[in-house]
Amino acid sequence: MTGEGHGAPGGLAAVFARLIAATGPISIAHYMAEANARYYASRDPLGTAGDFVTAPEISQMFGELIGLWLADIWQRAGRPQPICYVELGPGRGTLARDALRAASKAGLVPEIHFVETSPALKAMQRAAHPGAVWHDDLSGLPTDQPLLIVANEFLDALPVRQLVRTGGGWRERMVGLNAEGAFIPVAGTRPMEAAVPEHYADVGEGAIVETSPASAAMVQEVASRLVAQGGAALFIDYGYAAPQLGSTLQAVRAHRKVNVFAEPGEADLTAHVDFGTLAQVAEQAGARWLGTSGQGAWLAALGIGARAGSLARAAPHAAEAIEAATIRLTAPDEMGTLFKVMGLAAPGWPDGAGLSRVRSGTVV
Ligand code: SAH
Repeated sequence: MTGEGHGAPGGLAAVFARLIAATGPISIAHYMAEANARYYASRDPLGTAGDFVTAPEISQMFGELIGLWLADIWQRAGRPQPICYVELGPGRGTLARDALRAASKAGLVPEIHFVETSPALKAMQRAAHPGAVWHDDLSGLPTDQPLLIVANEFLDALPVRQLVRTGGGWRERMVGLNAEGAFIPVAGTRPMEAAVPEHYADVGEGAIVETSPASAAMVQEVASRLVAQGGAALFIDYGYAAPQLGSTLQAVRAHRKVNVFAEPGEADLTAHVDFGTLAQVAEQAGARWLGTSGQGAWLAALGIGARAGSLARAAPHAAEAIEAATIRLTAPDEMGTLFKVMGLAAPGWPDGAGLSRVRSGTVV
């Protein structure tokens, strides 16, 4: 634990090493949750100088079209007032700024509530949105008005649990220490057969089943709020339409993939989002699943082409950059297909623009 890349002495790596030495391996979920809490607490990870770039930081068009989507569904729901804009993990506050500017032109001027745990990012959000209200989780959100909820690249940061098929049966995938003091994945000792869906019972040794109980709990809570209060939600993230085998856990630092186990708390840990399962969770809680679409198709349906054209006419010197941003957000080999948009709404609320309800197979 003294080598470079393990953070400062006394950092999270040292804490984990002591914990594992004393009590044995920790679960992947525990490792991911603590590592990301530490990672986000102290830094702004976004942008070219940071670790990764998100859609709202690529172009104002992304947030604007989200704002127009919200204003559209709100208008068709009868323009209820008062109403809250709620963003989960708002980063620098860029998406909210662009969305709320576009929404206000359509007459939607909501209260602003942010769910954010990072002190560093809260400070940036406060500078951009002095009138907002902050929450550590959903429990403190208003209960007496409809909610318009947005979460971009939020669910992918929530911890996943992994189960691995060993020669002796299913075990939880854990993080242990090797003889050199490096973190390595190991299988837990307790049998976990009961946690594995039946259709995976016969898969081969080494197979990994990944789930995100934290994401499911979050979507369930959002859905219950929509049912109780009215409103709609958009979850945008990279992920898959139907559950699949294998680990999608990855670590990113300075725009490069790095070893998940090398620097806990110093790299962004994410996993792909299982949109198929989350849609079921929302429906079981009584919410309407409005559909899940590829980000490219969704932005195209909402008119990103026209918006790009008018921005380029207003600022011809930026035309190339606007075109490049549009391609990055929508092209199938960029963010257009891997990234997906899932819409939810309260029963009685209308359909969402640009979303398609395709149950199985690839959704686009
Ligand atoms: N939505 C922003 C930022 C994405 S990064 C954008 O698109 O640019 C993930 C965001 O979620 C950060 O703001 C991070 O601090 C926040 N976050 C991560 N885990 C969280 C948790 N458990 N509770 C609340 N916020 C969390």
